[in-house]
Amino acid sequence: MAYLGNSARTKEVLAKYGMSAKKKFGQNFLIDSNVLDGIVSAANITDNDCVLEIGPGIGSLTQYLAEAAGRVVAVEIDKTLIPVLADTLSEYTNVTVINEDVLKVDIAEIVKEYNDNKPIKVVANLPYYITTPIIMKLFEGGAPIESITVMVQKEVADRMVMGPGNKDYGSLSLAVGYYAEAEAVMDVPPSSFIPQPGVGSAVVKLNRFSEPAVKVNDEKYMFEIIRTSFNQRRKTLSNSLSNNPSLRVSRQQVQDALVKMGIDEKARGEILSLEQFARLSDILQSSNAMIN
Ligand code: SAM
Repeated sequence: MAYLGNSARTKEVLAKYGMSAKKKFGQNFLIDSNVLDGIVSAANITDNDCVLEIGPGIGSLTQYLAEAAGRVVAVEIDKTLIPVLADTLSEYTNVTVINEDVLKVDIAEIVKEYNDNKPIKVVANLPYYITTPIIMKLFEGGAPIESITVMVQKEVADRMVMGPGNKDYGSLSLAVGYYAEAEAVMDVPPSSFIPQPGVGSAVVKLNRFSEPAVKVNDEKYMFEIIRTSFNQRRKTLSNSLSNNPSLRVSRQQVQDALVKMGIDEKARGEILSLEQFARLSDILQSSNAMIN
């Protein structure tokens, strides 16, 4: 099999179809076989696995996945790539390509149809312009997913794996930490892609927990607190949370809750762990209930 994951073959395929990478779809094709090997081995795929690939492009990563997995379902938004994929993946009988926007497709339905509702593994070199919506859809959409191994912008990878007190710690770190254990796999330079992205990249693996990492009475309320805290990073928690009417709390209530938790009443969100946000959320909700 002639692998696509190198510069010469990628240019040849694009030239054959008179195509060039589309910026609006975040197309940066992988041309580095070490990186492709690294992604597939980190994802720990066996022939018992069904893999969902997001954005197969011309099929470079798909080839590796098809060789390691029992089945691959690849969702690609760009319809002009569909005939290209039919050509480049013609040797594989275990790959299904779906021409859809991954943000609109019913992933639970895919898991039902292609894997008898057993958990799947997601593997992708993601389009960077929609990284966070894709990750949140995978976590919140309710489809059975065992792990997510993805190439993302290096800065986003850092935000996913960082803990409290770090400058990259924020709502994405907390959302990821609620649903999964995040593992940094490798850094990838721009030279591993055609065209080269303007930023560094990294592969991360998110191993989904069977239950969320913390117990909280109202997960939506907690995430609203988290979003609000980091939207106004430089403000104290009592200022930022009391400024958001949807949280229905006063500055005093927030200060009291923090003191009750043994935290400085002037604290900012960046020092709180996920457990502390969960506790803060429960306390604020119950103090709310007493007033209303
Ligand atoms: N997997 C290929 C590789 O590694 O060479 C291509 C990766 S490229 C960074 C991202 C791919 O995602 C492109 O093929 C792009 O067309 C596709 N894509 C962009 N937005 C998408 C969406 N909303 N749904 C599905 N695929 C999308």
